[in-house]
Amino acid sequence: MTASAPVTARAPAKVNVHLAVGPLRPDGFHELRTVYLAVSLFDTVTVGPGDGLSLSVTGEGADVVPADRRNLVWRAAELLAGSAGVPADAEMTIAKSIPAAAGLAGGSADAAAALVALDALWGTRASREDLAGLAAQLGSDVPFSLLGGVALGSGRGEQLSPVLARTPSHWVLGIAGEGLSTPAVYAELDRLRAAGRVPDGTDLPPAEPVIAALRSGLPQELAGALGNDLQAPALTLRPELRRALAAATEAGAAGVLVSGSGPTVAALVADEQSAVRLTAALAGAGVFRTVRAVQGPVPGARLVG
Ligand code: ATP
Repeated sequence: MTASAPVTARAPAKVNVHLAVGPLRPDGFHELRTVYLAVSLFDTVTVGPGDGLSLSVTGEGADVVPADRRNLVWRAAELLAGSAGVPADAEMTIAKSIPAAAGLAGGSADAAAALVALDALWGTRASREDLAGLAAQLGSDVPFSLLGGVALGSGRGEQLSPVLARTPSHWVLGIAGEGLSTPAVYAELDRLRAAGRVPDGTDLPPAEPVIAALRSGLPQELAGALGNDLQAPALTLRPELRRALAAATEAGAAGVLVSGSGPTVAALVADEQSAVRLTAALAGAGVFRTVRAVQGPVPGARLVG
């Protein structure tokens, strides 16, 4: 039965604290071994009764996010309606705080939040497993946006096993310049590998050091274990990111890396106070468009209100 009042769900951004990319597979995807961390920067999706589907997008970067069938939220709605055998009727609004094309899985967060909100609106009563299956059809990062917390991802990143983190970690996210296209960053990695400029990815580095560091709860250990194979191609496509990484290190970050396919710089700090200090320093440094202090892990897509 369809609810008559609007329903809102929110889902978090993610940082890949470890991202090892294998060679290109015959299906066009790369084999990944990654450790996802959900952080406290959320998009919300509100859905209400409608006649057919409609979508509006507000907030951070709304002008560059399509508000039609190209939007992952629209595809999530069609997929859930099709699998549950209900009409795809909903008025949907995305309120974005997660910048688009920033390597923070904003689109995936929106898709996960939409699945949760529409399931409640339409009374489709999908189990968490059902939703995870639909999420994997929408994109490699969507299952993690649904699950949240910390998880080891394999396959395309969609096969997840939860990881224990002893204490929350504190981060400052610096968003530099225009968005980077994820396929373009993977293509650049393939090019660098073909030219022999970076290791070919046949031997995926293990995720155990970063998992052990998360278990220890020691920021210095985690800082030493951070790694991202997409950082090199993100830096060749966006050389000014070097200055952004250096700015974060010089301002006192314990560890820095490019988040996912970039261009967001994720700077790890020891505690909340250091995060406040680093946020102020980086906001004044002139290299970032937006600077946000966050912490993780936080839960995945959930109903709010
Ligand atoms: P990832 O880290 O998962 O590779 P990302 O965080 O770099 O992704 P997204 O914010 O998910 O990137 O957006 C990538 C592209 O997806 C955008 O340029 C946009 O055209 C498209 N897109 C589709 N739906 C959405 C959405 N709801 N929010 C943002 N972008 C969306």
